[in-house]
Amino acid sequence: MVLILVTAITGLAQEKTASLSTGTQVVVLGTGTPLADPERSGPAVAVVVNGSAYLVDCGPGVVRRAAAAEKNGIKALAVEKLKIVFITHLHSDHTLGYPDLIFSPWVLGRTEGLEAYGPRGLKSMTSHLEKAWTEDVRIRQRGLEQANATGYKVKVHEIRAGVVYRDANVTVTAFPVKHGIWKEAYGYTFETRDRKIVISGDTAPTDEVVKACDGCDVLLHEVYNPHGDELKEEHWKEYFRTFHTSPAELGEIARRARPRLLVVYHQVLEKLPEADLVKQIRKEYSGDWVSAKDLGVY
Ligand SMILES: [Zn+2]
Ligand SMILES: [Zn+2]
Repeated sequence: MVLILVTAITGLAQEKTASLSTGTQVVVLGTGTPLADPERSGPAVAVVVNGSAYLVDCGPGVVRRAAAAEKNGIKALAVEKLKIVFITHLHSDHTLGYPDLIFSPWVLGRTEGLEAYGPRGLKSMTSHLEKAWTEDVRIRQRGLEQANATGYKVKVHEIRAGVVYRDANVTVTAFPVKHGIWKEAYGYTFETRDRKIVISGDTAPTDEVVKACDGCDVLLHEVYNPHGDELKEEHWKEYFRTFHTSPAELGEIARRARPRLLVVYHQVLEKLPEADLVKQIRKEYSGDWVSAKDLGVY
């Protein structure tokens, strides 16, 4: 009886349950894409466990969205507490907030440096950013601001598929996804005491997501609009087919992955009516799902 009730509750009910409980929370900081939509900040997600926040990706706006989440009561997302990020791939929409994450929390008092995990190329990106802001770092430390000498530093971990991080709260596993001609793009699985959360990153449909989730609590997955204006052009058709996942494909992935809740984020859905999205996902998938909004807690 209890089981039936649990599986019958809607996505909205689960959202409330998650935000009220003290268990693991998934906070979607940004659901956006390269489109400069003021309602959708750049892609970034926080997994919050026991007062610690673990970020996945750092699209534009990440630090301000974290501050907004803190205002909403999620204290782990206080800006000066942001100290670890897992990057799925190096596309600019997922990394334009990286210098923000390196420098802003430091300017605002963070003393610990940032730990950054991601694909090969992250070290090079990081050292270019450090060089770009050398003068800022010098002036803030030597001038009247008296900034600390540690909080702007970054420790980069270039990863391979497998377990990439573990502490008392969480085990993080990276799995390879299919993102067109990117040599390396990853999704991440977070296993905590009470939940298993899988984040697809940017990907065309892949069995790796199905394997990683396998009945997980929350699956966050990207999606694109298969009726978008660009798709009249052959190169865009090929681009979306090989880089991203359509709603119908997502329905099939979700049916096979069996999450307790599917959260659709990173939505390349300009002009796709919500009803159409629902219809296409529902063709294959009958479980609970929700179309994520910025600052949604799941
Ligand atoms: Zn991408
Ligand atoms: Zn993207």
